[in-house]
Amino acid sequence: MTTIADQLHHVQAQIAAAAAQAGRPPAAVRLLAVSKTFPATAVRAAALAGQRDFGENYIQEGVEKIAALRAMADIAPLTWHCIGPIQSNKTRLVAEHFDWAHTIDRLKTAQRLSDQRPAHLPPLQVCLQVNVDGGATKAGCNPAEAAELARAIAHLPRLQLRGVMSIPDPQPDAAAMLAVHQQVVAVFDTLRRLPGLDGLDTVSLGMTADMDSAIAAGSTLVRVGSGIFGERDYSGRP
Ligand SMILES: *Cc1c(COP(=O)(O)O)cnc(C)c1O
Repeated sequence: MTTIADQLHHVQAQIAAAAAQAGRPPAAVRLLAVSKTFPATAVRAAALAGQRDFGENYIQEGVEKIAALRAMADIAPLTWHCIGPIQSNKTRLVAEHFDWAHTIDRLKTAQRLSDQRPAHLPPLQVCLQVNVDGGATKAGCNPAEAAELARAIAHLPRLQLRGVMSIPDPQPDAAAMLAVHQQVVAVFDTLRRLPGLDGLDTVSLGMTADMDSAIAAGSTLVRVGSGIFGERDYSGRP
């Protein structure tokens, strides 16, 4: 039987190979294990195999898992990333429980998160979500708005802007996929050249199916779910 630890090691090897192929050190790409829909026991198995960063899409589900893992005395503190949409009525939960939020695409959400981030916690680490390939209905800001939004977010006292995040649609072939990934990295490079934003260090890009191409383009953080935990079962969701 293939275990979560086996699959985690397989994904780590795949990241190292893709990085080597791109002439980048393997340590330049951080692995975020996306545990949405999987139980706390699955997170525990990955944590015991050495995984530290976990991503959740559904905020309430994530908060419950964060509490469950924190209560396990033999699990060292984990880093939790919110990678799902954040409605206004959920910002407080994100600010109080997560370490990172990747899906900021408007100032209002960022302001609420900054206002609600508890003083005893370090600043919430955030990424600006950009939409390089979708229409107006897709989440993420337009690349043309990214600089203004990034500058405004960088001024919020309880947030630390780390970079950009994107969820490009699948493309018909590898060259088209790479081109879209490169557009995301180009937005990141533009932001990093702005005054005060030279500390940006994160491109959150690539999932199980497209991580090789994302790493070739310059992703620094891949978000991998099914590659580690197996296929998701959404039947329990409304
Ligand atoms: C579910 C999800 C992932 C992981 O997807 P896999 O295809 O299972 O690797 C990554 N990023 C986001 C934003 C997701 O919602």
